Amino acid sequence: MTRKINIAIDGYSACGKSSTAKQVAKKLDYIYIDTGAMYRAVTLYFQQHLIDVDNLEEIENSLPQIKVDFRKVGDVHHTFLNDVDVESEIRQPLIAAVVSEVAAMSNVRKKLVQQQKIMAAKKGVVMEGRDIGSVVIPDAELKYFMTADLDVRTKRRQEELRKDTGRLFPLEELKANLRHRDKIDSTREDSPLTKVPDAIEIDTTHLTLEKQINLIYDNALEKIEGKL
Ligand code: C5P
Repeated sequence: MTRKINIAIDGYSACGKSSTAKQVAKKLDYIYIDTGAMYRAVTLYFQQHLIDVDNLEEIENSLPQIKVDFRKVGDVHHTFLNDVDVESEIRQPLIAAVVSEVAAMSNVRKKLVQQQKIMAAKKGVVMEGRDIGSVVIPDAELKYFMTADLDVRTKRRQEELRKDTGRLFPLEELKANLRHRDKIDSTREDSPLTKVPDAIEIDTTHLTLEKQINLIYDNALEKIEGKL
């Protein structure tokens, strides 16, 4: 049996992490895990239940009521919140507007990181997020840190949302949200987004999705065969 490895992909919002990770996992027949979706699902729960995010006790009491998992719907994996498919809801700008504030809470992180570590324990996982190489799977065999020019990222996010919702969101609004999330994600006290020393940096500004996928896929094959 071939040896399985774990691949950690971190980076700023809308750099192409999800699209790349999804395809690399498919080519390797590995499990793809979008940890951002988990933070988005918790954010949705807080919104649905009118949880006061400034009230630590209320947050603490609500966490055991929240179950987030991924299930296959047709050909793709969807995010489920307490057994309800929320894949489309969690991608809405209303969630993106506050998800970074929720993700900065240590008790929320503790719950989700614990679950993510279990998911990665058996290897054969391509996991993407902000703290995967630093906190969730620090022993991942391959680690990447993805960046891209902010204007390029904004346009990509607009196109993604247009495909998902049929709506064309103003570029300025999307850009402000990306900037806002980058700032909170990189400066928060608990597990800030950073490039760990053993991560390979990929600037996707001028890369096609195919090139990004092949770069990681080729590295993975070499790693699995012990050549890297
Ligand atoms: O990747 P995505 O943009 O969907 O992530 C949404 C938010 O979830 C990020 O802006 C960040 O605040 C948070 N996040 C995190 N740690 C992760 C993944 C996402 O803090 N591992």
